Amino acid sequence: MTVDSIRNGIVIDHIENGKAMKIYQIMHLENLDCPVAILENVVSKKQGKKDILKIDGHIPFNIDLVGLVSPEATINIVRDAQVVKKVKPELPTKIEGILTCKNPRCITSVEQGIRQAFRLADKDKLEYRCVYCDTKYSE
Ligand code: ZN
Repeated sequence: MTVDSIRNGIVIDHIENGKAMKIYQIMHLENLDCPVAILENVVSKKQGKKDILKIDGHIPFNIDLVGLVSPEATINIVRDAQVVKKVKPELPTKIEGILTCKNPRCITSVEQGIRQAFRLADKDKLEYRCVYCDTKYSE
C-alpha cells in the first residue's frame, strides 16, 4: 500500500483494525466534498491487520480525535505525492461537543443547550469523565 493515489491530503495509517469507520464518524468526514477512502483489513507486518483512511484534500481537523479512537495511528500529511510530515496523535485532555454523557440525571441530559464536555481522567486506561457529573464515558 502506497500513498501515491493521493497528491495532496492526509493519510491516517496504522489505525487499529475496525476503527477507521469510527474515525470517519468522529471527524465528520461525511461532510467533506473531497474524496475519502477507507481501507479495512489491510495486512500489516507490525499489527497483523490494520485500517487506513485517505483523505484527498487538506481539511482542518483535530488530530487528537484520531488518538481518542486509535492511539497507535500515524497521520501522514501528503503534498505533491510526498509525505512531508508524520504526526502521532495525542490524547486530548478535554473533548467538547463530541461525546455524549449517558447519565440520565446529568445536567446535559436534563437541560437543553448545554455543551457536552469530557476530561481525560486516566491516560493509561483511556478514561474520559463528564465534567458535569463525573460519569465515565462508555460507547
Ligand atoms: Zn454527565
